[in-house]
Amino acid sequence: MSVASSRHFLQIPGPTNVPDRVLHAIAKPTIDHRGPDFADLALEVFDKLRAVVRTSADVVIYPSSGTGAWEAALVNTLSPGDAVLMCETGHFSGLWSELASTLGLRPETIAGDWRSGADPGAIEQRLRADTEHRIKAVAVVHNETSTGVVSDIPAVRAALDAADHPALLLVDTISSLGSVDYRHDDWGVDVTISCSQKGLMLPPGIGINAISAKALLAARSSTLLKSYWDWQPMLDSGKQGYFRFTPPTNLLFGLREALSMLLEEGLDEVVARHDRHAAATRAAVRAWGLEILCREPGTAPGTHHSSALTAVVMPPGHDADDLREIILDRFDTSLGAGLSKVAKKVFRIGHLGAFNDATLLGTLGVVEAGLGLAGVPHRTGGVTAAIAELTGRSGE
Ligand code: PLP
Repeated sequence: MSVASSRHFLQIPGPTNVPDRVLHAIAKPTIDHRGPDFADLALEVFDKLRAVVRTSADVVIYPSSGTGAWEAALVNTLSPGDAVLMCETGHFSGLWSELASTLGLRPETIAGDWRSGADPGAIEQRLRADTEHRIKAVAVVHNETSTGVVSDIPAVRAALDAADHPALLLVDTISSLGSVDYRHDDWGVDVTISCSQKGLMLPPGIGINAISAKALLAARSSTLLKSYWDWQPMLDSGKQGYFRFTPPTNLLFGLREALSMLLEEGLDEVVARHDRHAAATRAAVRAWGLEILCREPGTAPGTHHSSALTAVVMPPGHDADDLREIILDRFDTSLGAGLSKVAKKVFRIGHLGAFNDATLLGTLGVVEAGLGLAGVPHRTGGVTAAIAELTGRSGE
């Protein structure tokens, strides 16, 4: 049904649409990764990346997906049998915890309902009880991509400080960096984990760690096996602008361009743009009479609506995948699927990365049309509500 000659509408919460400026940068001829031009490229990328992570700390870039960056954070700082306090926020916190077990760590999970963020009060209580300091790290997913919930990282930091606990704070910013306000230094994070294919507007293929001085110190005594992920040789070669292995040169061309775009727009402006689109999306969902998966901020501790995506709950008896299939078939538009526990129960609207008002209204228009075609009970007027939110006019 859809017209194949136009560009596919990719409105999943990552990978996101890659802007033309970035695509053109990636399309440059590959250069010698041991030559002087490469060193200039890498040093500029490290500097700009630090600015976007809001840190003066060391950063490491891997040719990897986000999972590699998760693994790097764990194997560089921890030793076999170390306890890691994880917070169940959704599918991705669960995968990270499974990875920790596979590596020989002992993840201990604070249970969650997949509608709320990490609970700073529960973290503080658990850390206070850990008088022998067996817990070596607290791991939190900042923006839980499976649920559209943002955890309050400054409140988590405050919980560690209130408990006077020396655990490292590891934060997954895979779907928040470049979309949701994030500050590695100000928030006292020890390892920031991220990757390329979401707010950084690149194809998949780059994993990122930003590393505090405390995390670097922990790395000296960490005994988990590591080779490819070992920070130290990466940091040593990175100082000269080189990688210890063949780097993803063309993705780095793209990363330089994407970081420049974010810095040209201004990080506060980038965050405000995402906040605005998220508010308009929520206005549309409420007008449709559908439920947002994230609990209202204020009704659960440490819980905020995501500005990167909105997860929408289907009415009972209706399958989110049927709706997504109709929308893909009729409108050549991809929406995010519900994952594991919420499979078929929710669909996710991505509004992160290279995104403007027109993209948002196109996406919401397609969702509203799809709800009608799929016979999902709803009220019309979601797009009108979003327009009112975007333009500040109440749609008289
Ligand atoms: N963490 C979060 C929050 C994610 O959204 C994802 C993937 O979507 C991952 C981790 C895993 O990243 P990757 O699939 O790039 O390995």
